[in-house]
Amino acid sequence: MPGEAQEARRIVVVSNRLPFTVVQNDGAIEFKDSVGGVATGLKSFLHSVKTPGSSKLDYLWVGWPGCTIEEPLRQQVSARALAEFRAYPVFLSEREIEDFYQGFCNKTIWPLFHYFPQFAAYDPGYWPRYQAVNESFAEVLLQTVRPGDIVWIHDYHLMLLPHLLRKAAPYVRLGFFLHIPFPQLEIFRLLPGNWRTAILQGLLGADVIGFHTHDYVEYFLRSVQRILGFDHQMGRLSVGGRVVKVGAFPMGIDFAKFYEAAGQPEVRAEREELRRTLGGSKIILSVDRQDYSKGIIHRLQAFETLLENSPEWHGKATLIMIVVPSRIGIEDYEGMKKQIEEYVGRINGRFGRIGWAPIIYQYRALSFPSLVALYAASDVALVTPLRDGMNLVAKEYIASRRDQTGVLIISEMAGASKELLEAITINPNDRNETANALKIALEMDPAEQIRRNSVMQDRLRRYDLSRWAEDFLGELVSSEPAGGAAGRKVFNDSARRAFLSHYRRSNRRLLALDYDGTLVPYAFPPELARPSEKVIRILRRLADDPRNDLALVTGRDRASLDRWLGSLPLAFAAEHGIWIRGCDEDWTMIKQLDAEWKARIIPTLQMYADRVPGAMVEEKEYSLAWHYRNADPEQGTAVARELADYLLAFTANIDVQVLRGRKVIEIRNTGVHKGTALAHWLAKKAYDFVLAIGDDVTDEDMFAALPEGAYTFRIGSSRTLARFTLPGCAEALELLAELAEGSEG
Ligand code: UDP
Repeated sequence: MPGEAQEARRIVVVSNRLPFTVVQNDGAIEFKDSVGGVATGLKSFLHSVKTPGSSKLDYLWVGWPGCTIEEPLRQQVSARALAEFRAYPVFLSEREIEDFYQGFCNKTIWPLFHYFPQFAAYDPGYWPRYQAVNESFAEVLLQTVRPGDIVWIHDYHLMLLPHLLRKAAPYVRLGFFLHIPFPQLEIFRLLPGNWRTAILQGLLGADVIGFHTHDYVEYFLRSVQRILGFDHQMGRLSVGGRVVKVGAFPMGIDFAKFYEAAGQPEVRAEREELRRTLGGSKIILSVDRQDYSKGIIHRLQAFETLLENSPEWHGKATLIMIVVPSRIGIEDYEGMKKQIEEYVGRINGRFGRIGWAPIIYQYRALSFPSLVALYAASDVALVTPLRDGMNLVAKEYIASRRDQTGVLIISEMAGASKELLEAITINPNDRNETANALKIALEMDPAEQIRRNSVMQDRLRRYDLSRWAEDFLGELVSSEPAGGAAGRKVFNDSARRAFLSHYRRSNRRLLALDYDGTLVPYAFPPELARPSEKVIRILRRLADDPRNDLALVTGRDRASLDRWLGSLPLAFAAEHGIWIRGCDEDWTMIKQLDAEWKARIIPTLQMYADRVPGAMVEEKEYSLAWHYRNADPEQGTAVARELADYLLAFTANIDVQVLRGRKVIEIRNTGVHKGTALAHWLAKKAYDFVLAIGDDVTDEDMFAALPEGAYTFRIGSSRTLARFTLPGCAEALELLAELAEGSEG
């Protein structure tokens, strides 16, 4: 955890906005604290870990100061930002703010990622500006980062930055957190091809990528798989020899700040004043930034339905609706403001009477104490976004309830609903359900309110903002490669010498070899990949040495092995370990399996093969393979991704595994794999030298099954459990030839 780091490590926090905003008044500059936002939230965390004695953590900020500052003033702003806030400002021109911030960020990404594709603009002028601003951030960062720094980049404004920085400063640890939802593939791929590819590649420059919920993680991984073709293993992606971790880190709030504030005398006084003014009417609270994603109109519709259906609440319940101005000047937002105001007027006109207005509407930002006083005064918080990455208002409401009463109603489309399980959950599109929830909330027994809120408070207190940041940064630090160098699995001269010397000294050796891609290069159709004379010669020589047990461990069927290599004194494992046979023995099945599932899957595989010229289906006894080695590479890869995706979902509830190999998708029973076969042989004899060579993901099972000290080699990839990597088949064969030379025949 960063707080426990022994050495002084520096965190560089990068976000579009800095925790302060520069305001210019008649040529003079003023620094004001920014309201809301990511940087403001993180500020308190960074201050807390900096308290004397607790750690040696140091930090810096990089971000936009919130307004355009021209040349003569820039130096002055930079100097003060560094001295007073440890910040490096990134200056943007008016044009950049328009196309990058107002444009690409707010008119393309924001609507799309919040499932409002109808509002998304794809102006070709936005994209180059988005790229340019991300590059400007990289330039400023490069002037300040140094080896060992942890760089934490925030949010959708800077999705290209991780890759840019990775290229220029590979020596830093890089984290990225997305504060808005990551949408489903169907939505994400509405972005033009080169934009969406660059965004995913940009994000994959990070070592750790965080989202608020597991759903967003899943959607992101699926987009990466379908658009870039990278498969993940339990949220880990292998990208150019690096491991990228993707995970859910639900953002917490500064619980203590809200809880303590609610107990302050001036906040209590403001709360009492509010309640007195409303003359005992129950208060329903709604607070949002003005945004179409927040479902403000839906909330009004639900309140109107409550008033229509429940006249007993007339005069006894008041909706206080605070709308905080946001993104002023964007047309969609102007139209929405008018719509809200007209609707509020209509409801008040229809149901209001002297002494009671059903809705008190305010279009303004509140001070922190007033916001907490409102949270503390309100009997019900109504949070109904149509889509929200997290929603902090819901959490802040719960944290401000010192007596633990109050009812939270939250939309199931808000990330926070995944954590606030004791709240009343609604679908904001269902106005009857929301109206009903309001009635239940207004009538809920205080003991029940306390029961629910105490559970939620405990959770929010434990998993607060600091814990969130520590978890994320902890993941970033713990995933740091020990040796650092990506090439550490290379089989260098000294490793080779040690390997050969061990081989010569040993008497009971197990040599397990994969076939396709290891002993012979891939061919298409697969029956063309016969072993060469040279391969047969080497295998025979190795197998003839009485100290060697040589085993071929492959995905091939029994018949091909018998035909090609049956005359050699080898052991075999066919179909990824389902069938095994020792030297001069008959084939046996390692475990009784069922293959009924094959009949249900073959038609789908055939249909996909028919769509792609050059693709073919191979049926084995207990597994299936869909090969696309001979297909057009682009088309083959694209269809293979779609097919693998479909098969994963289709086979989710049966004991079948879908594996993407090299130009092949394998579907096989779970529970039996190459490792099972090796375990079988290892149990029979105590070996003093074990070697395994393979080239694809199915060989990882073999590596995993071997004892420590075994020599394991993976051809082609450094993302492997194997100890060493080899560049190709030729090198594997060369290594075996070297062993064969030292063998007795
Ligand atoms: N907030 C604020 N001023 C106000 C009202 C609210 O700064 O007048 C804060 C509120 O405390 C919360 C944030 O704005 O922390 C809104 O966060 P949320 O996740 O609910 O929505 P977002 O605006 O980020 O979409």
